[in-house]
Amino acid sequence: MTTTANAAGAGSESSPATLKFIGGTIVAFQDGGHRILKDGEVVVSGDRITAVGPKTDSPAERVIDLKGRLLVPGLISTHAHIGAHEATRLIIDAGRREFMRSGFLNYVPTQGMDGRSLFASIDRDASVRFGFSQLVRNGVTTVLGFAPYSDDLMIEAADEAGLRLYFAPTANVGRYHFDDDGQLRRVLDEKRGEAQLDCAVEFIRRHHGASEDRIRGIVVVDEFYNSTPSLRRAAKAAAKSLNVGLTMHFCEQLFEFHETVRLTGLTPVQILEREGILGPELILAHCIYIAGHSMTAYPYVDDVGMIAASGTTVAHSPAVFARRGVVMESFQRYRNAGVNIAIGTDVFPMDILEEMRFACVAGKIADRNHEAASAGAVFEAATIGAAKALGRDDIGRIAPGTKADLVVVDLDNIWTAPYVDPIRALVTSGHPSMIEMVVVNGAILVEDGQLVRVSADDAVSQATASVRALEAAYAGWHHVGRAAQEEFPPSFAAWSN
Ligand SMILES: [Zn+2]
Repeated sequence: MTTTANAAGAGSESSPATLKFIGGTIVAFQDGGHRILKDGEVVVSGDRITAVGPKTDSPAERVIDLKGRLLVPGLISTHAHIGAHEATRLIIDAGRREFMRSGFLNYVPTQGMDGRSLFASIDRDASVRFGFSQLVRNGVTTVLGFAPYSDDLMIEAADEAGLRLYFAPTANVGRYHFDDDGQLRRVLDEKRGEAQLDCAVEFIRRHHGASEDRIRGIVVVDEFYNSTPSLRRAAKAAAKSLNVGLTMHFCEQLFEFHETVRLTGLTPVQILEREGILGPELILAHCIYIAGHSMTAYPYVDDVGMIAASGTTVAHSPAVFARRGVVMESFQRYRNAGVNIAIGTDVFPMDILEEMRFACVAGKIADRNHEAASAGAVFEAATIGAAKALGRDDIGRIAPGTKADLVVVDLDNIWTAPYVDPIRALVTSGHPSMIEMVVVNGAILVEDGQLVRVSADDAVSQATASVRALEAAYAGWHHVGRAAQEEFPPSFAAWSN
């Protein structure tokens, strides 16, 4: 990428008053959809895009030549556990069989009622700061975070990183623990849920609109399965009174579906429908095991149709599920029914390009159909679909008047060139290392592939220490003291001297 700056406006690196991107390929927004604009230009003034169209000779403080590059709207992750995912890394290729391929149940439960959850980082600050750094470096300009933290850590770390954050601490009635025999148990506590929801409401009142409106609140019910009708209704009412969205983990584990149907005669989607919880402000994270999924053995109800009719969004995070041999059935079925689909980066590596690639590939495998889950449809999910989920028409697109959230990707390299279609090249072969520049609200957060505001090296070394510490602490957490290396054997044995 070549850039030029005139004498008057070399500008500060973090927030130039005016940026102009010229040439290359621009994914611009026109007549309600993305369009490919070749050799055009995008002008940024302050926090906004002010002009999009054919190239002009109008002056700018800084001109960025996009030759060989692709300019896309800032990518949006509508579901992320912002951290280093210490425990998630342990369980690849492994984990307990009785959880029906679910990964998170291996580490989210506390050991005993009052013990420790392996999902809790050893160094929480390092973990969260690493997570934000990784998201920004990977081209994510807006993220919806799931975490229980009710202090100011998430707000401070997001402000420091410079991206947009939707957040409030999670609320839930139920929680998991392992008993003395290592069996998974669940305890429900309605009062706990109410108190956590009150805390979330107070948090949103305090922080919504902070950091030049980059911070926004959203009511987060941690899991449908661990919630009750009264908590869900209270959460919906709170979201409405605060004029913010609502989100929850939904149908991400097989027995969540089966137990709900067995106990109520209704699917989880039917329950949300009857309770009046579905709606355009609701984002269902994952939404995999619903009627019609082959593993549910339950084809009798039109869950997908109910989700679509209500305007509810599905936040699709295919990568972590693919690693457990699980696929949503299917991206194209949901899309054809009219469901608004967005993309989430969930756990490591919080790589939205990888999520898009998995959505495209796993979506084709799920349907045994190469026409399913096209690169264009998946790209729409990570941009326009996600913006719609958040109730916004000023992000997820490159159009005059929208926020200056932009990502420059080098496509003219040995990995993606020679390409025919830039979006297919990005989705099938794109990698974060090709991301050269990330702009949020007009401020440059990544330049020449490097984080501008924070040290990537520090983020990595501190998060690595947290992961190592958790690995070392594993035996103390396990109910019969098995070490992490025993429970999750390494791919290959160590060299013997
Ligand atoms: Zn999640």
